[in-house]
Amino acid sequence: MLYPWLMPYYQQFATSLLQNRLASSMIISGHEGLGGRELALEMAKLYLCLNPNENGPCGHCRSCLAMARLTHPDLKVAYTSTADEADNDLDFTQDLSALLVREEVSTRRSMRVDTMRKITDFLNESAAGGGRGKVVIIDGAHLMGESAANAILKTFEEPSPNSLIIMLTKSLESLLPTILSRATKVVLKDVPVAEATAFLLDPANQKPVVLHRVDDDEATIAEADREALEKCPGLQEPITQKRAEIALALNSYAPLAAKQMLLAGDDSKALDVVEKIVAAINSSGVAVQSYQKNNIQYEAMINDVITALKALSKPRQSQLLSELILEVLKYKAYVDESELPLIQYAQAQVLQHLQVDHLFEAMDKLRYIEDRSPLIPSRAPVALIRAWIKALNPIPSNR
Ligand SMILES: [Zn+2]
Repeated sequence: MLYPWLMPYYQQFATSLLQNRLASSMIISGHEGLGGRELALEMAKLYLCLNPNENGPCGHCRSCLAMARLTHPDLKVAYTSTADEADNDLDFTQDLSALLVREEVSTRRSMRVDTMRKITDFLNESAAGGGRGKVVIIDGAHLMGESAANAILKTFEEPSPNSLIIMLTKSLESLLPTILSRATKVVLKDVPVAEATAFLLDPANQKPVVLHRVDDDEATIAEADREALEKCPGLQEPITQKRAEIALALNSYAPLAAKQMLLAGDDSKALDVVEKIVAAINSSGVAVQSYQKNNIQYEAMINDVITALKALSKPRQSQLLSELILEVLKYKAYVDESELPLIQYAQAQVLQHLQVDHLFEAMDKLRYIEDRSPLIPSRAPVALIRAWIKALNPIPSNR
């Protein structure tokens, strides 16, 4: 059930729990694609089980049966939210499914002060399930501002008896020292590349996570599976070593994030962008030599790059361009191209002629791409791509 690379953390937790040495607050830190949410949920299951043992929850008790229906009276999750979502109580809920399957929204969410107050109230009520206590999972603690952190601090310092708070954060640095000092910290380590690749190439993992409740009948399950598969255009092509390597490189080698990218088919779109950049650069050499004649063709190729880039979401765009810049910098530093999937598979060796200061400048421009402020023009990637190709222009003509 639990991803294999998470087992050591889980076992450590189980040992502490069974020996009654568990701290009442924990922070799990790491890239979202490493599976911190799944780990937190499994920890909560074990914590609330009435007959836990070192192998996991019993699976039969009242608590375990409630978990199988993905809603437990003594477990709630605090999510980042928009003001609207918080008004509808979607910010603090017994619905566990959003922990494992959550739709991306384009509006910005934050961890709210009101949500923190709801947590304190919930923990102060007595446990409803007649079980061993209460658990709160805070999903996205790095998006907790100072006032939200202060609102939860007291509960974090003096938790009600038999309660456990698990915070999930992208990095420990984004949390206040006062919060950090109170909790047991679990820092998820990177998964070795070979293990991550093997995970993605295993057909058993090449499908979306679909949550079924124990009482769902066969038809409901089949229908939900079919619907989820329809949302995975990336599965129309087989997932190959090449695709897995590209997706991992673009997602900091976090297996679950790479998997999401593969299911969406965004790895192929990303490779397409790099191939079009290379094509435009190769044509720009010609453009310099007889500028007038080839200018129209050159402009068309730049537009091809921009169109290909726009097929990706804004976060994916900046993910791709920053990884591409990093790979070019590494390639210039003589890192072998077998370790640089974008350069290798898009045959982008020509990018090594870009100047280092220009690459840093391009990296700097990237922050405008992800910024959702309406004041920042959405032309940033266009300007970036143009600047890149322009910077390569002199090379072929000097030969
Ligand atoms: Zn149980």
